[in-house]
Amino acid sequence: MAQLIDGKKISSEIKEELKAKVAELKQKGIEGTLAVIQVGNDPASSVYVKNKKRACEYIGIHSKSFELPEETTQEELLRLISDLNEDGSVNGILTQLPVPAHIDEKEIINAISPKKDVDGFHTQNVGSLAVGQEGFVSCTPAGIIELLKRSDVEIDGKHCVIVGRSNIVGKPMALLMLRENATVTVAHSHTKNLQEICRTADILIVAVGKRELITGDFVKEGAVVIDVGIHRDENKKLFGDVKFEEVSQKASKITPVPGGVGPMTIAMLMNNCVEAMDK
Ligand code: NDP
Repeated sequence: MAQLIDGKKISSEIKEELKAKVAELKQKGIEGTLAVIQVGNDPASSVYVKNKKRACEYIGIHSKSFELPEETTQEELLRLISDLNEDGSVNGILTQLPVPAHIDEKEIINAISPKKDVDGFHTQNVGSLAVGQEGFVSCTPAGIIELLKRSDVEIDGKHCVIVGRSNIVGKPMALLMLRENATVTVAHSHTKNLQEICRTADILIVAVGKRELITGDFVKEGAVVIDVGIHRDENKKLFGDVKFEEVSQKASKITPVPGGVGPMTIAMLMNNCVEAMDK
């Protein structure tokens, strides 16, 4: 039976460390403020926004909330972002995704100053990651690196298979694993022989958005398995992209859902906010 990688515990440790750092910065007269923009009132987004504000409060930084109506125009949103870019008291800005269909998401992401882009989605930050320069890194993959390191998983020289190539998880994850000297394979919906490829992984990271796609047959004995997926059934029970009961019999270490990758995303957002205070 695999050992659990406890994202709840590790994210709490990170938040404690950040709280101490924020207190230190405050002593030097440096304050932090995260601006969170939400367009419309998608219930899932509202929960995420609330959790982000709560985390800010916990580590000791301010949060400014901008809850805009569904019919907000692109121009209005761009104007707000431009004002926040100029506002010296704001260190971090994020727009909660997804935005309503009439808004051009890419333009909004790239309107945020790269120095305040704490989500790490701006093309400049993604480019910096690709060429090994400093910049904000997307929170979920950055959180997975912390989970692995703090669980004593060796990455250097290991074969890492990442299933999923989204801009916010799969692609930055591949770049981060390369930075850590893993040998990286990225699989996606056009990949042939997915099962065979997954079975070659020392570290298998799954971000496909398909409930329990990865069963025991996809996993090599002793592999480390990271499950990014989040699915809720009609009784609100949570599931991942990995069939936990089967895979945990073969893996050496595994993240549960809930309590694995999920809590790390907000912890790493807070980490980016604290980094932004120092810029
Ligand atoms: P996307 O839908 O943006 O990307 C899914 C990726 O999986 C795509 O690259 C797609 O391939 C690939 N894919 C889909 N089906 C298959 C398949 N049958 N075989 C192989 N590859 C497949 O999802 P995200 O990356 O945004 O999110 C993935 C999951 O992680 C979701 O469940 C989401 O809710 C969760 N998530 C959790 C977070 C957390 O904090 N825990 C944060 C972000 C996401 P192709 O590119 O070819 O279409």
